Amino acid sequence: MSALRQRIVDLIRQEGPISIERYMALALGDPQHGYYMTRDPLGASGDFTTSPEISQMFGELIGLWCADLWLRAGQPSLSLVELGPGRGTLMSDVLRATRAVTGFHDALQVTLVEMSPVLGDIQRQNLTDAHPRIEWVPTIASLPQKPTIILANEFFDALPIRQFQKRNQSWHECLIGADEDGALVYGLASEPMKMSGPGGTEGDILEYAPISETIIRDLALHLVKQGGAGLVIDYGYTRSGFGDTLQALKAHEFVNPLDNPGEADLTVHVNFEALEHAAKQGGARTHGPITQADLLDRLGIETRADTLIRKASPQQAKDIQSARDRLTEPTAKGMGQLFKALALSHPEWPTPAGY
Ligand code: SAH
Repeated sequence: MSALRQRIVDLIRQEGPISIERYMALALGDPQHGYYMTRDPLGASGDFTTSPEISQMFGELIGLWCADLWLRAGQPSLSLVELGPGRGTLMSDVLRATRAVTGFHDALQVTLVEMSPVLGDIQRQNLTDAHPRIEWVPTIASLPQKPTIILANEFFDALPIRQFQKRNQSWHECLIGADEDGALVYGLASEPMKMSGPGGTEGDILEYAPISETIIRDLALHLVKQGGAGLVIDYGYTRSGFGDTLQALKAHEFVNPLDNPGEADLTVHVNFEALEHAAKQGGARTHGPITQADLLDRLGIETRADTLIRKASPQQAKDIQSARDRLTEPTAKGMGQLFKALALSHPEWPTPAGY
């Protein structure tokens, strides 16, 4: 049994069953054994891969999205923030692609929000010489007080959620307990929760992401105060509904979310309707969400791929084509439709490119 599973079982034996939210927080973020705290999970040898890891085109187009917005906003002194930067690949591509935009790098101060010391170190290595002013912070609590552009790719899917199930006309929180053999098992709180409005029928699962909603509301408040915009890209759905989206990935295969806490990636699908609502509550204007395919098409992925292919060997050209397809195709393996892009902005900032 993994050290973390033993700790969770001990905790449950002392305090009783725990919420999915607490379980996710421990499995992903426990300082000693949490999944993100102890490893680099990305890439072919890891557990999952992400758009910036698939192709440099992703970060380059987002870099131009940032620079274009900065130009149209009147070239202010700018804080460029990324939430959950993984290996730092997206930021590295953003900075490389914008080097030729006159004045942009000089106007910048870069802040990476990262909780994992292991990933923070990898980001430091990969961003050496990328920009003279890069700082790391563990949360969004202390962002620089100036106009800000915020990027978040596959960040919100990693934040803990709560789940509720409808039983006997009322909603009960889904909990995780332990059986006599030390296996983790699902259960339900006996006390119902008072919830108005969600409807649903017997057995339905309702997900609620209070941490994500708080973060996006706080980001909106920051943008309204300072000026700026944000781009949130993730897999998820655009209309609230019912269903269990908690999933675990290990070595690119789905595994049981309860089997290996701390050793498999745990994620959920992002409820973009809820994020949009929370951003509006914070006073931001929202744009989209649109599909990743639409965003990348409108930012010119076709032209960018053609430019790269012109300078490429036949093998490289094939790789560029297949990366572009993977980022934009609506198939099961493609990320074009399942992935959505929501932008939020200060009400008086220009509308971001792609919307
Ligand atoms: N954006 C990257 C990596 C996605 S993996 C990419 O697209 O490749 C999720 C990232 O979010 C990791 O860097 C992880 O350590 C970080 N992360 C997860 N939960 C976090 C939290 N609560 N606070 C700060 N960073 C977090």
